Parts: sequence; structure tokens; C-alpha cells
Amino acid sequence: MPLKNDINRWLGRADAPPQPLPAQVEPASVSADWHMQLDEEGRVTGISKPMRAALGIAAAPVPAQRLLGYLMPSSALVVEGVPQDWLGHMLDLDFKRPNGQILHTRGWVQAQGQHWLLQLLDIGDLMEEANIAQSRQQCLRLAGQLAEKVRGCHLDRLQTVAAEQLEELAQSYRVPCLALALPEPGATGWRIYAHYNAHTAPQLWQDGQRLGTDLDSLAGTVVHQIDFERESPLAHLQNDFGNTEGFLVPHHKEGIAKAWLLFGFYNAAGQAPDLGDREWMNLCSALAGPILYRQADQAHRHQLERLAVLQDLLGTGWWELLPDSGEVQLAPQLARTLALPEQSDVLSLEQWLQLIHPADRHEFESRLTLLSDHGTPMLACVRLQQQDGDAPVWLRIQGQALGSGQTRRVLGFMLDVSDIKNQETEAAAAHARLDNLIASSPAVIYVLEYDQGSLEPTFFSASLTPLLGWTQAECGDGLLTQYIHPEDRDIWFQRTRQLLREGVVSCRYRLRDKKGEYHWLLDEARLLRDDLGMPVEAVGLWLDVTEATQATERVRESEERYRILVEDSPAMICRYTPDLVLSFGNRPLADYLECTPQQLPGVNLGEWFSAEQKAAFLKRIAELTPESPMGNAEVCLELPGREHAWWVWADRGVFDESGKLIEIQAVARDNTEIRRTRMQLNQSAKMATLGEMATGLAHEINQPLNVMRMAVVNVLKRLSNGEVEIDYLTDKLNRIDTQVQRAARVVNHMRVFGRRSEIEQQLFDPIDAVEGTLNMLAEGMKGKGVELRVGDAGPRVQVRGHVDQLEQVLINLMVNARDALLSRQEKDRSFEPWIALTVEQDAQTLWLVVEDNGGGIDPRLLERIFEPFFTTKPVGVGTGLGLSVSYGIVEQMGGRLSVSNSSEGACFRIALPIVRE
Ligand code: ADP
Repeated sequence: MPLKNDINRWLGRADAPPQPLPAQVEPASVSADWHMQLDEEGRVTGISKPMRAALGIAAAPVPAQRLLGYLMPSSALVVEGVPQDWLGHMLDLDFKRPNGQILHTRGWVQAQGQHWLLQLLDIGDLMEEANIAQSRQQCLRLAGQLAEKVRGCHLDRLQTVAAEQLEELAQSYRVPCLALALPEPGATGWRIYAHYNAHTAPQLWQDGQRLGTDLDSLAGTVVHQIDFERESPLAHLQNDFGNTEGFLVPHHKEGIAKAWLLFGFYNAAGQAPDLGDREWMNLCSALAGPILYRQADQAHRHQLERLAVLQDLLGTGWWELLPDSGEVQLAPQLARTLALPEQSDVLSLEQWLQLIHPADRHEFESRLTLLSDHGTPMLACVRLQQQDGDAPVWLRIQGQALGSGQTRRVLGFMLDVSDIKNQETEAAAAHARLDNLIASSPAVIYVLEYDQGSLEPTFFSASLTPLLGWTQAECGDGLLTQYIHPEDRDIWFQRTRQLLREGVVSCRYRLRDKKGEYHWLLDEARLLRDDLGMPVEAVGLWLDVTEATQATERVRESEERYRILVEDSPAMICRYTPDLVLSFGNRPLADYLECTPQQLPGVNLGEWFSAEQKAAFLKRIAELTPESPMGNAEVCLELPGREHAWWVWADRGVFDESGKLIEIQAVARDNTEIRRTRMQLNQSAKMATLGEMATGLAHEINQPLNVMRMAVVNVLKRLSNGEVEIDYLTDKLNRIDTQVQRAARVVNHMRVFGRRSEIEQQLFDPIDAVEGTLNMLAEGMKGKGVELRVGDAGPRVQVRGHVDQLEQVLINLMVNARDALLSRQEKDRSFEPWIALTVEQDAQTLWLVVEDNGGGIDPRLLERIFEPFFTTKPVGVGTGLGLSVSYGIVEQMGGRLSVSNSSEGACFRIALPIVRE
């Protein structure tokens, strides 16, 4: 009751009982009997007891102090001069109190004899109210400023400005931490929109920080003191306020809290006692209201923009029947989409109908009438009138009536559904094509329904009947099983089990068609399950793979036949890589090598060859090309623990796309027996040659014997005459020795010549063979009166073969020539026979030419003389083997033996390839 007290004071009544003074703070407004005694100079000479109590002093000090000493400096002006001057003035005096508080008084002076009496009244209450009013006014001003700033700033700066205003607010009321929380956009809960933090205060909040829904529990009232101790819903906020004092002020709209100001480390009642809840809420609303409004406004604008963009993109928009004019108004976007002339978004109903394709117009019109007259909602899909050739434009037009009676509005929207419609049409066409395709393809699509562990067909595509002859009904109710080939039933049951267990299956089996023929079907199926994982149905596909399966079967069979062929072939068949490693060998090959066919792969063919053979073998393989992939050779193998084996070997190269040799397939035949026979033949021919030469040989041996006998006879004669001269004897003995050596040489050569040839061919000088031949035959020829014409040897070269065999050839040719010459000489005694042996050569070839003047060979026989056993000589004389064996020998050496008739006789030419290292 401050007012009543005041009046009592003014009236000087003391009926209000003095209140007991609290120990520390002294209430200032109790006494109506406050006065001071002043002297003329204005010094205080006495103080009434109540006044002393109010000022908290015991007595007026002596000597007297000036009144000014008791006052706040702000009151100094009021008491300028002496009491006389103050008379008749109202004096507002603020006294100092010992606890630092101020005692607000109003007083006046009156004379009292020599003294002056200063009467005082406590006006503290009045002052306080004035202060509160002022504070509230300031608060209102501040609220106005805040609102104005937030309202007036650019939208982009809204948050920054809000933070600035928070700072302003915080500084005005000395708030360490202040934040504005707004509802979380698009969600429940709250979020810090802006905050302020004094430098000295800990950071409680950050922009964008989520506060959850705790604030909702505050029921939108101001909360002065958050009590974290008790079990209260606010306990959750404890963290948000750093466990210290907090103060929360809501902003309401329509009874619902729309924003909160959060004050951290702040005691509102203590720091700003003059402000009530209303003021604080005013401040909050001043800040939050415009922000929320502007946010809502922006959201609304965005919404409108989005709508416009959406309508543009979709080619859609609203339309409304204008009730007064009966015209139609279209959304601007729609008017554009329909390509209406500029500024004409209002159409007459007639114009609107004209836009629609005649095929749809009537239906549309009738629906529109139903809508406008009876409010029946309308949904129509119509085509627009269009130029020929353009893709049709489809519009979906929806409409409905809003309200009723006078206020009824008829409106709706139009949507361009051309894309969907055209796609629908295309999809339908594609679907039809697919159906057709399936129906005419060798594939059947089926659906099996799951029912308690079994799968029963519920659908087959139309291709079932063309493919198998069965109808859908003939395949249901467990009938399918009996069409499955008995041998494949296991596969069939296994398939169902696997499908149920694993969810997919792919298998092949035979299924009987209606005509009783079996088809190989490739069955691929997949199990479909519901959300709970329970099987619902299976979808599958049958593909008729009869032809493919049979073809595979045929390939397998033919492969099997070839395999048997290869396995059972008497020939040795193998495949090997260009580095001679076997990748396959058949049984005959394995048998030959005394192992199993399985042991053959990995064996290197090179191990069986001599270094020379291997080099020749590799050389031959290297010459294989995709154009001429075949090669032949007779190869000599050195098999361990065996004699040499001769194989006739035929290769065929297999090449990759780039022409690189990747494999060789080979067939080999053991030629050892034939080879051996041929060698025996050669040998016997050689022996025959030797026999032939027996005569010449006898002469050859006879000649030295004769010479020796003459020498011996002569020596004996001298001895018997007793005239032995040592020189004479020596001379004769030397002659005998020469003749012995000569005979020994002949015999020796005969022995060497008679041996079998080496297995492998060697390099040798062909002139050695010429010399050997002449050694054996020269004397004999001379004895028969045949002249030997031997040409120059020329530069020495080497050929490959056996020196004794070439010698055998030369002997044959010379002996044949001799025979021809001698038989001619028999008829003509004056005939002078000769044999010419000449050597010719170029870079690659060396020729040994044996020519005689025996008259040559009957041209009709020329072709036959190389045949085995062909002879013109009497039985027992000729064998007919000489030339045929010679031909073979020369061929073995890689050369050629040929014959022609020259002017005087036969001319045999041996051509041999020269081997250069
Ligand atoms: P053979 O000497 O045992 O008859 P060959 O095969 O050596 O067997 O000779 C076959 C035949 O070729 C001879 O019988 C002979 O008629 C003919 N012939 C070979 N060389 C000559 C030659 N220099 N002049 C004439 N005929 C020859």
C-alpha cells in the first residue's frame, strides 16, 4: 500500500505502526516524522530520531556538518545557498545511506526561531514507479526498434540482423547468453535460429542447434527459474542452459508458442526487476514475430514459384468457369501451353470446345455440363485439335464444384498426358509384338503356383500349343509328370525340389508332345516370395533345345568316332607343340614307346632324336605355313634300349588367327622294316657290284703279282748266274714292295666297301668317292682297253650321305658303261671305247657326269632303266638292280640321278646338293 502510506505521511499521521527494522536493510518509508534542524548557514544541528534511523546514524555529528555532506552529489544543486534561499521551494533530496542505498525524500524548510527546520517525506515508492514506467517505456522502444530492424532488412540478411538484434537486447539488459529458438522447419522440435554470446560467457548455443521437443513441455509460459533439481519436464533443458540459471520467454500466436527467447546465466528478476513477463514477451514477439512472418512469407512465395514452375514443366494448370460470363479462365501457364494468343487467358466456352479434337469434344461437353449443372466431378482424357502429322496432344481434364448455391465455383486442372498416352500406345504395341514373338518362338513362359510344398502350373504362354501340342488344361493337375521322358523323371523331381530350396533352377529334360515325340527342353525357373519370404509362385521358361541338344550329341558321337579312329589306328598319331612337347599320343605310339597313352603328354620328342635329326626336324616344322601346313619326312629315332627306328612322319600345322603355329598334328608309320629291307637290298646290290668287279679285281691283283713274279724270276736268274749286285737287288725288292702295297690297298678298299653303311648320313667330299671308284676300276678298265677320261675336280665341297654308297653308284654307272662298250667292241674290233668322268658345280649343286661312247640306250627303254630288275643283259649276268638302287641312293642324298643319250653314248648325271656350313 505505498499510496496510503504516502497520504498518511503527507497528513502527518502516525497511525501506521512503525515496522520493525530488519537487521541489515533498512526500510526507508516508515516515519512521518523525519526532520532536521539547520542553522542559518545550512549546517545540520539536529536530526529527529526516525530520520536518524532512516539514515542509519546515531546522532548529528558535532561540530555540525553541512547538509550537503548527507546528500548524494546529484542533490547538490537543490541546496545551493543558505536555508533562507530555499524557503518556499519543494526540495527533492537524495540522502546517502550507509549501505550504499539512497533515501529519496521531498521536503521544505520553515523558520524555527534562529534555526531552520527541514521537514522531509519519503518519496522512494513514487520514484520506483516512475523508474518502472521509464524502464517499460524503454523496453517498448527497444521492442519497436528490434521489430523495425528485422522487418526492414533484406531477406538474405534476416538471420544476421536477428543476431545483431539479439546482441542489442543482450547488451541492453546485460544478458550473457541469448538465443532465439524457432520451430524446426518441416519437423517437430526446436532449433536455434540466431544467438548472441558475450565474450566473457561460455558458449551455450550455436546457430542451427537442435533442441528437441523439450520446450513444448513449457506450455508456452515464461519460465523464470529453471529448476533442474526436481523431477520436472524442464530437467531435460539442463544441458541447454549449462546447468545454471536460465530464463525462457515465449512468443505466442493463436495461443501456441511459435518462438522462444532463451536467456542463459541470467536472473531476470534480479537484473531487470522493472520488467514484467508482459514486457519480456513483447520483446520476444517484436523479434520473433517479423522473422516468422517473413519466413512464412518467403515459404509462401517459394510455394507459388514452385507451383508455377511445376505447372510450366508439366504443361498443366488450373481452369475455372466464370459464373457470370460463362467464360473459362485458364492459368497463364496453361494458356501458354495451349498456344493461345497473348493476353487471352479467358476463353468463351465455345472457343474452349473448339480446341478439342472432334472425336472427344462431344463427350467432354456433356461431362462439363454435368459438372456445372449438377456438380458431378469430371475426369476426361481428350485430344487437342492438331495439325496433320503432329503427334497427338492428350490432356487430362479434371474438374469439380466447390461450395453450393450462389457461391459455387466450378474449377479444375488440365494436365498434358501426351507422354504417358503415347507411351501407353507404344507399350501396348510393344506388348502385342512381344506376345506375338513369344507365341511364335520356341519358348514357353509358365507360372507355377505354390501350394503347400507343391508347384502347380496356372499359366502357360500361348506358345505352348504350337510347340508341344498340349493345351493349358492338359498340362495341369499333375499331368505334366507323365509327359516327362522316363529316364529324365529324376531330373524333373529334382528340379522342383531345387527350385523350392534355392529359388532358381536351370535344367534340361525331354518332354513328350501330343504327337508322342520328345523335345529337349531347357527349363529355367525362379521362385517368387512374398514379403515374409514365403514362396508364392514360380515363373519359368521352357526353351526347345532339341536341335541344339541333338547337334551336340552328334558332335559328341562324331568326336567319339574320331577318338576311336585315332585310338585304334595302327598308325601312330600325336599332337605336339612347336617346341616338340607332346600333348597327345594314341595307343600305338604309347605301345611303341612301351608306356601308356596317359604318360605321353609332356614328353619331348626331341629326346628321341640325334642333334642333327632334331635340328632338321625343327627346321621342317618352322617351314610350315597356313598356306602349306603339311610336311613329310622320314625321321630316324634313337629309342633307348633299341636299334634305330625309322618313321615316315607326316605333319600338319595348326595355326591361330594371326598365322602363328600353335600345334602340330602328326601321323607316323614305322618304316624301319622297309628301310632295313632297302638297306639289305642296297647291300646285296653292292655285293653284286663287288661280284661284277671280281674279274677286274683279279686283273687288279694279277697285275702286281705278275710284276712281282717277273722281279722274282729276274732276281733268281741273276742269283743263279752268281752276279748279285746289291743295287740291283734293292731295286727289285722295292718294286715288289710297291706292288704288295698296291694289292693291299685294293683288297683293303674292297673290304671297306663291302661293309654295311653307317646309320646316319655324314658330310663328305664327293671327290673321295670318285677317287675310291677309280682306285678299284682304273686298272681293270685299262686292262680291257677302255680309256678313262677324268676331268678336274674343281673346288672341294661337301655333300650329305654315305661315301661308300656314292662310290657304289659311280661303280655301277662305270661298270654299266664298260659293259656297253665291251659288247660294242665285240662287234667292231676297231672301236675305241672311252668313259669320261667329269665334275661340274655351281653354288648349290655338284654334278658327277659319267658319259661313254657305247652308242647309248634305246630311247624306248630310257624311261624304264631305273625300274628294279630291269635288265637287257642275259639271265645270270644282269640283276637289273644297279640303276634302281643307285637312283634310290642319290635320292636319299637329296639329289637326282638322270640319264640322257649324247651323240656317242649314254650320259648319266648325278646332281647333289652342296652343304655349306
Ligand atoms: P644290269 O646292269 O644288271 O642290267 P642295271 O640296272 O645296272 O642292271 O642296268 C639296267 C639296264 O640299263 C642295263 O641292262 C642296260 O640295258 C642299260 N644300261 C645301263 N647303262 C647303260 C649304258 N651306259 N649304255 C647302254 N645301256 C645301258
